[in-house]
Amino acid sequence: MTDGRWDEGRARREEMVSRQIAARGVRDERVLEAMRKVPREAFIREEDLELAFFDGPLSIGSGQTISQPYIVAYMTEILELRAEDRVLEIGTGSGYQTAVLAELVREVYSVECVDVLAERAKKRLLDMGYENIHFRMGDGTDGWPEAAPFDAIMVTAAPGRAPEPLIEQLADGGRMIIPIGIFEQYLYLFTRKGDEVERQALIGVRFVPMTGKLDRGDR
Ligand code: SAH
Repeated sequence: MTDGRWDEGRARREEMVSRQIAARGVRDERVLEAMRKVPREAFIREEDLELAFFDGPLSIGSGQTISQPYIVAYMTEILELRAEDRVLEIGTGSGYQTAVLAELVREVYSVECVDVLAERAKKRLLDMGYENIHFRMGDGTDGWPEAAPFDAIMVTAAPGRAPEPLIEQLADGGRMIIPIGIFEQYLYLFTRKGDEVERQALIGVRFVPMTGKLDRGDR
């Protein structure tokens, strides 16, 4: 992703980072640089181009949204990612958060349940030259057992409670950030230490609901 196609938006991304993200307390320089580098303008609908750096979520069709830039940066920073990490993402959506993760870690595994979104995001990210992303269309409630355990898990749709398979697929020392709640939602950080899993509530948020097994009460 260094072919110069997106250089034009660089100044506006720098402004987005300093006004919306650094100003609100995100300090991790690797995260800030990924947010400056990934062309957010390439992940939104053409008619919304003017709003590419808007300080809030935007519709991406199919009833789904691309998250607010600050929330993307906040959730990424909380995971304390290292370059050698393997990360699972549930809710590919536009693929924007996927690209930010792919800038920071060795391998990203991303699951999306809406086929048009999954295909569009995959095409876009491959076209941009990302080679460290694995894509799957399906219910992220199950995680990605064959590729587990993961050093970090990021969930960007909100279930009523944390899906058990995701907790199981966290490596020792691994961290998962996930919005939980039906009416009121909070971001939670789960940290595995051996067989123990700690849970910490962070901030109030609004994500689209997670669909799939948990939603239908199959678990
Ligand atoms: N990170 C995305 C945000 C997408 S919104 C972005 O920045 O664009 C949440 C996404 O989660 C939607 O695309 C929705 O279709 C997806 N989703 C909801 N429930 C899911 C499930 N059970 N498995 C996989 N994806 C799911």
